[in-house]
Amino acid sequence: MPEEAFSYLDNASTTKVMPEAAEAAYQAMTQIYGNPSSLHSMGLAAQRLVTHSRNRILAALGDPSGRLLFTSGATEANNTAVLGLAAKYGVRKKRVVTTTIEHPSVSMAFNRLEELGYEVVRLSPNSVGEITEDMLVSAVDSKTCLISAMLVNNETGCILPIAGAFMKIKRKYPDCITHSDLVQGFLKLPTSVKTLCLDSASVSGHKFHAPKGVGALYLKKGIRLSPLLVGGGQEQGLRSGTEAVPCIHAMGRAVELQSPTIEKRYEHALSLNEYARKSLTAVGAVILSRADASPYILSIALPGYKSETLLHSLEEDGVYVSSGSACSKGKKSAVLTELKTKGSYIDNVLRISFSGMSRQEDIDALAKGLIRCSERLARIRN
Ligand code: PMP
Repeated sequence: MPEEAFSYLDNASTTKVMPEAAEAAYQAMTQIYGNPSSLHSMGLAAQRLVTHSRNRILAALGDPSGRLLFTSGATEANNTAVLGLAAKYGVRKKRVVTTTIEHPSVSMAFNRLEELGYEVVRLSPNSVGEITEDMLVSAVDSKTCLISAMLVNNETGCILPIAGAFMKIKRKYPDCITHSDLVQGFLKLPTSVKTLCLDSASVSGHKFHAPKGVGALYLKKGIRLSPLLVGGGQEQGLRSGTEAVPCIHAMGRAVELQSPTIEKRYEHALSLNEYARKSLTAVGAVILSRADASPYILSIALPGYKSETLLHSLEEDGVYVSSGSACSKGKKSAVLTELKTKGSYIDNVLRISFSGMSRQEDIDALAKGLIRCSERLARIRN
């Protein structure tokens, strides 16, 4: 399908791979295809690609002296962090803290810790749907070995005040390890691990125009971890398995090209977001995302219309959005419920998400699609 024929507004789910990243993957698959552990020159060339990507990503995270493990994605990075850090640091201090609005790759890893006998504190948003700096700080005590809180929520785009909170936590309890799922923030908002006071952080390639199936776990120098995957001892013994060189090389290239354009793309997302708020309100949508949320994610509701019905009707008009996870396998989204999604709108939520490639025409197509959807459904109902 030619690009102009549809409007892709589901970039928080995944993004289109940028041509330069696809070319990098192709080069690693067809020319530099050695195993990075092999000692011959083809292996060393592959190893150099991996090292180059590692250095690029560490630089983009603002800590060139940190460690970075390549993983199969953020799910593996989050699992490795939560389970692996707790195993190392929770021998005597079995208390861990997280929030109730995390991605399942974090929240379910904490469920696992609970099964293993850890005391898990899960912070719920307050009555206005916020997790405040004070809430995060006061949840930690001298028995806490780990706190994990995401930077940007993937359903509503709300930003958690982790920079201030983690700084205060580190001052009071320097031994408490801080982890953040940076997936929806990396290369979109400032994500310096130093400013955010992070010991550990995860990112995912396919959220920023690199291929699916690759991600990374950042660890501050000196932070130890019990590996989830054992075997050949790759990735400094912390993540065994032959490195996915084509995907890693592509991810490094995507980071290299987008690091210098964070501000420019942020401005672009902000103007699209403002435009969408106006034009979608004009066709009857209710805006659910807070004004200070990440401009890349906009949660809306069309009262009276079920999310899935809307999603499929929009699809017929070539507009791709997400149902906002309002219903997952018949269950209401725990996150939207936790974030106190306005009243009865929880079944009517759509998540719109932008990338640097999104255009104003995509929003126009969405607004038109919503009008057509209500006309279509009116015909069925009559
Ligand atoms: N965390 C967040 C906030 C996400 O949005 C996602 C992707 N839906 C993940 C983690 C998991 O990333 P991956 O698909 O790379 O496993």
